[in-house]
Amino acid sequence: MPKTVLITGTSSGVGYASVDLFAEAGWNVIATLRDPDKVPDFRHADQVMVLRLDVEDISSITAAVDAGIARFGRIDALVNNAGFGQYGLFEALDRDRIQRQFDVNVFGVMDVTRAILPHFRAKGGGVIVNVSSGAGIFGLPMISAYCASKFALDGFTEALSYELASQNIIAKLVIPHGGIDQTRFHERSAADFVSDDRLKDYDAFLARTRAMFGKMAGGRLMSAGYVAGVVVQAVTDDSRQLRYFVGDDARGFIKARQHNSDEDYMAHMRGFFEADMPG
Ligand code: NAP
Repeated sequence: MPKTVLITGTSSGVGYASVDLFAEAGWNVIATLRDPDKVPDFRHADQVMVLRLDVEDISSITAAVDAGIARFGRIDALVNNAGFGQYGLFEALDRDRIQRQFDVNVFGVMDVTRAILPHFRAKGGGVIVNVSSGAGIFGLPMISAYCASKFALDGFTEALSYELASQNIIAKLVIPHGGIDQTRFHERSAADFVSDDRLKDYDAFLARTRAMFGKMAGGRLMSAGYVAGVVVQAVTDDSRQLRYFVGDDARGFIKARQHNSDEDYMAHMRGFFEADMPG
């Protein structure tokens, strides 16, 4: 009997690419998206059920889980992929913007997870893969709200994994870092970027940091399909591996975080963002 996966945020990017890869691997796919007018062309349409699911709307979550189970009989895996990046200096972001960042990237993941866990327990197991980011492993200036949400997602997933192991449910993280091509992520982050003309004190810092990000962006981006391949691997490899890092770590951020003392890690990061600052 083919297995079934429910994926959030499949209108574009990693979520969209994951639908096709799972279907090619013989899985049934419940491809969820929040705007039914934006359904992309999925290949293998016979294996793909498209449903509306807005992670900020709990009734749409329970309806999609129920409809998916009704159609395919069971759900074996959940991929919490939906997310966006609220960029801007912390002082430029009001509380509503930050709340929204957490509503989608953290509470949305928790709500979809909560909706599916009784089903996983009833059938004796399941796999949950949460798509995080390098921004959940290291902090970067100008994206503090996004970092805070992805750090929260990382901590939540690790903590949850211990609880769910007792139920034969495996929770994992896929952590793309370094930028992904063929997504709407950067276009949307740029559109949502908040600036505040009253914050002139940051002008020199902003100019320098923008130049630094510009240099960093010059590196090679991964394709959404490549990241989707790691999502499929995380769901299907039958391992207990918690974190799947995806990216070439060209700036050494992941390596510095994992293998250096905190002092050396901060020296590495400050070299990028505070190189010519006093003290
Ligand atoms: P993307 O093309 O912008 O896709 C994001 C998806 O999330 C879209 O389908 C979007 O739907 C959906 N979404 C946003 N808010 C939602 C909500 N309230 N309810 C349901 N769906 C919602 O970007 P992507 O790169 O594929 O992003 C996928 C994941 O990868 C995200 O969690 C992101 O944080 C992570 N990531 C991305 C990068 C990168 O460089 N792109 C790097 C590291 C991690 P709409 O079309 O309706 O907006």
